[in-house]
Amino acid sequence: MKKYGIFGGSFNPIHYGHLMICEYIKEEMGLDKVIFIPTGNPPHKELELSAEDRYEMVRLAISPNPDFEISDIETTRVKKSYTVDTIRELKKIYKEEKLYFLIGLDSLFQLKTWMKIGDLSQEIEFVVALRPGYLDREEVNKEIDFLRENFGTKINLIKTPLYEISSTDLRDRIREGKSLRYLIPKKVLDYIEESGFYKVDL
Ligand code: ATP
Repeated sequence: MKKYGIFGGSFNPIHYGHLMICEYIKEEMGLDKVIFIPTGNPPHKELELSAEDRYEMVRLAISPNPDFEISDIETTRVKKSYTVDTIRELKKIYKEEKLYFLIGLDSLFQLKTWMKIGDLSQEIEFVVALRPGYLDREEVNKEIDFLRENFGTKINLIKTPLYEISSTDLRDRIREGKSLRYLIPKKVLDYIEESGFYKVDL
């Protein structure tokens, strides 16, 4: 049975932290591919950029990697949706494959607040990129036990390096006129520069 990773995010913009954890998890979990799913209309975040532009940046970032794919399942959807709806739709498309939902360590601690986390936990296993030294391992284990006991969540942990960057930091750096070199792929950097994104507060 083939195994596919599903990696959702606002990717505003996509950066090497995202790409690196997917590559590590793909290797360690023996995934056949990873499917990136940029969010359309996330319930919690005010985004400055259109879903089409965030989609395009992900497309450019993953283009050199044959094992990375992108899906427009959320960006083309008109209605607001939750992750569980996306996963149910994907499971209808990938009937023969086992799907895993990939997240960073910060997202592990937000999972309990996700809408319909109990339903989502019945649909898919999670894989968390564990950044050694980032947090007390006991804290992580406590959170995993809590999620399992309350929602039946299944979590796999994969050790990855720590790239302490976030899209928020990158947007701040652009506003401050600082360099993004070595933090995001060159093609994405060129796209941002040509379009003049993130220069002003909206
Ligand atoms: P923002 O700063 O706008 O909140 P972000 O950089 O956290 O953005 P998202 O698109 O919100 O990026 O995150 C998508 C996924 O990538 C989440 O599961 C998040 O935990 C993970 N992630 C983001 N940055 C890193 C990083 N530097 N290392 C490992 N995982 C990360």
